[in-house]
Amino acid sequence: MKIKKDDNVLIISGKDKGKKGKVRFAYPDEKRIMVEGVNMIKKHTKAKAQVRQAGIIEREAPIKVEDVMLMCGKCNKPTRVGYRILEDGRKARICRVCGEVVE
Ligand SMILES: [Zn+2]
Repeated sequence: MKIKKDDNVLIISGKDKGKKGKVRFAYPDEKRIMVEGVNMIKKHTKAKAQVRQAGIIEREAPIKVEDVMLMCGKCNKPTRVGYRILEDGRKARICRVCGEVVE
């Protein structure tokens, strides 16, 4: 998948459009990611013995990977991800704006 855990991304569609955040989890099978502070949903919880507070908690829900752009750490701009084969045969992600390899 083009976006991985710990990437910084910019949200480009949906209710959180324009927000930036770090990818907390990636779900390659579903082509979805969970981004810190993005797509917060309210979840109702029941009181448990250990957790006194019942009610509503907010947590992130996964979003589609097409809804984000990668923030390049080199040029600091949002970019689509490209690929380049390195000299050692590894496939590396590259920033389409500045052409640098994105680790
Ligand atoms: Zn760049």
